[in-house]
Amino acid sequence: MNQNEAAAPCRTLAIVKPDAVAAGHTGAIVGMIEQNGFAIRAMSMTRLSVAQARAFYAVHAERPFYDSLVEFMTSGPVVVATLERDDAVAAWRRLMGATNPAEAEAGTVRARFGSSIERNSTHGSDSPENAAAEVGFFFSAADLL
Ligand code: GDP
Repeated sequence: MNQNEAAAPCRTLAIVKPDAVAAGHTGAIVGMIEQNGFAIRAMSMTRLSVAQARAFYAVHAERPFYDSLVEFMTSGPVVVATLERDDAVAAWRRLMGATNPAEAEAGTVRARFGSSIERNSTHGSDSPENAAAEVGFFFSAADLL
């Protein structure tokens, strides 16, 4: 890339999970998102059905924690958001920190608000391809402002 050329902004999907919504951390997490240079292109609160949670985490269907994860993700409302920034997928995963909050770097969202490897406060897409699919899972083109 030419040094004078700004990196093209890209999008990722963020979810504030039921543990963090229930604990009243949505505002603090959205604040961290905004302070780290992400533009919020769409945001809504919803409660996942079991079918939605199973489909969203289908890649983990064979894992021993799948049923527990689906139960957790359907246990209360979540806040889903489409975030835009340069290198959004990697930048949001850096800001969230490691999957296990006990291993997440100090100051990251999961270190601050996660309480276990499952109840880890937030979700972030793990590749640009999955980000496009996950944004489309929750939002239509007309929702993205
Ligand atoms: P992520 O991309 O960092 O969210 O991690 P993964 O894609 O590996 O896992 C998806 C989600 O499943 C995590 O965010 C956790 O909520 C949950 N999870 C991951 N690993 C475990 C585990 O070993 N045990 C349990 N109970 N949940 C897990």
